[in-house]
Amino acid sequence: MTEKRYLFTPGPTPVPPEVLAATAEPMLHHRGPDFRVVYERTLGRLKEVFRTQNEVLLFAASGTGTMESALVNLCSRGERVCVVTAGAFGDRWAAIAGALGCEVDRLEYEWGESPSADDLASRLADRESRVVLMTQSETSTGVVADIRSLAAAASEAGAVSVVDAVSSLGAVPLETDEWCVDVVVSGSQKALMSPPGLALVSVSQRGWDARGTLPRFYFDWERTRKAQEIFDAAFTPAVSLVRGLDVALGLLLDGGLDAAFDRHVRLGRACREGIKAMGLELFSPDDDSAAVVTAVRIPEGVDAGALLLLLRDRHGVTLAPGQGPLKGKIFRIGHIGYFDVFDIATALAAVELALTELGAEIERGVATTRAFEAYEQPTRV
Ligand code: PMP
Repeated sequence: MTEKRYLFTPGPTPVPPEVLAATAEPMLHHRGPDFRVVYERTLGRLKEVFRTQNEVLLFAASGTGTMESALVNLCSRGERVCVVTAGAFGDRWAAIAGALGCEVDRLEYEWGESPSADDLASRLADRESRVVLMTQSETSTGVVADIRSLAAAASEAGAVSVVDAVSSLGAVPLETDEWCVDVVVSGSQKALMSPPGLALVSVSQRGWDARGTLPRFYFDWERTRKAQEIFDAAFTPAVSLVRGLDVALGLLLDGGLDAAFDRHVRLGRACREGIKAMGLELFSPDDDSAAVVTAVRIPEGVDAGALLLLLRDRHGVTLAPGQGPLKGKIFRIGHIGYFDVFDIATALAAVELALTELGAEIERGVATTRAFEAYEQPTRV
C-alpha cells in the first residue's frame, strides 16, 4: 500500500473529497452560462464568509498576490505606510511595500508578541500614515491579533486598515463590516479548504475612496469589480479552482461559520493540552486565541530538521518548521479548515513517537487522552 500522508502544514491544508472532485470536473468556458452560475454563487458565498456587504474580488494568485493588490491599489509612489509586524507575514507586508517604493514605517514586535492597539494609536499620532497593514493570524508564530481594536485605532487616526486574513478567514471571527475593516485579503488554501491559487480581497467604500496612483493592471481592483458586477471576469479565471471553492464555501456555510470558529477553538485546545501533557513547551499563546496554528518549542538536544524529516519520512506526517529567527527552535502544527480531533490525535501521536525515537524525554501515552478531553469541553466563541 502506498504510504498514507497526513498534512498539518498551516497551508496548504487538506481538501475535502467533494471539493477535490469538483476541481476535477470537465472544463467550462468562463463566459458561458454554466460557469456564470458557479461564479455568481461563489461570489455571493464569499461575501457571507467575509461578513461584508461589499464585493469580494477574486483573482487567480497566491495570498501574496492579493497583498500586492492592496498596496498597488491603495498607495502612491513614495508614500509612507505603517506596517504592524510581529512575524514573517507582517514582514511580508513590509517587503512588498518596500519593493513598490513606499516608505515603510514598521511598528515592530518580537516574533511571538501580540500587537497592541494603543501602540498603533500612538505611532499614528506621532507619524501619520494613510494606510495601515496588519496580520490577523501570524502563521509564523501562532499569534492571532485583536483586529477589532487594531482596525479601530487605524480608523480613529483616519487611516485605512488592511488586514491579511490569509490563514484566519473561516477559522476565527473576522467581522469585516461590523469592525469597519477597510480591506481584507485572503487565499483559498487554508480555512477555505480549497487548493492554493485563488486570492480574495474585500474593499470598503473608504478603501475605494483611498485609492492611490501606483501603476497596476492585472491587480487593478476597478477592472475586476466592473467585470464581477455582471458576473463576468476581467481575465480567464481559474475555472476549476473556482468550482472547488464554490463547493468548499457551501460546506463551510452549511455547517455555519460560528460552528467552524468553535471547532477551531477546540482543536487549538486539544492540540495545546496534548503537547503540554507530553511535557513539551508551547511557543504560541496558551489561550483560546491560538485557534489556527500551535507552535511548540523543540526540546533540548533535539534537532528540529531531524525531527521533521523523521515525522515525514517514517510516519508520513508533515508538520511545519520555524521560520526566520524561529528556525530550529520551534515546529508548528496547523489545524486550519478541514480538521477534526482525530487529526490532532494523529499529529500528537506522531510527535510522541518521533521524539521518543530521537531520545527526548517525554511523557508517553497521555497526550491523545488529554486532547480528546480538552476537545470535549464546551466553549463560547
Ligand atoms: N499571510 C499569511 C498569514 C500566510 O499564512 C500566508 C501563507 N502561509 C501568506 C500571507 C502568503 O500566502 P501565499 O503563500 O499564498 O502567497
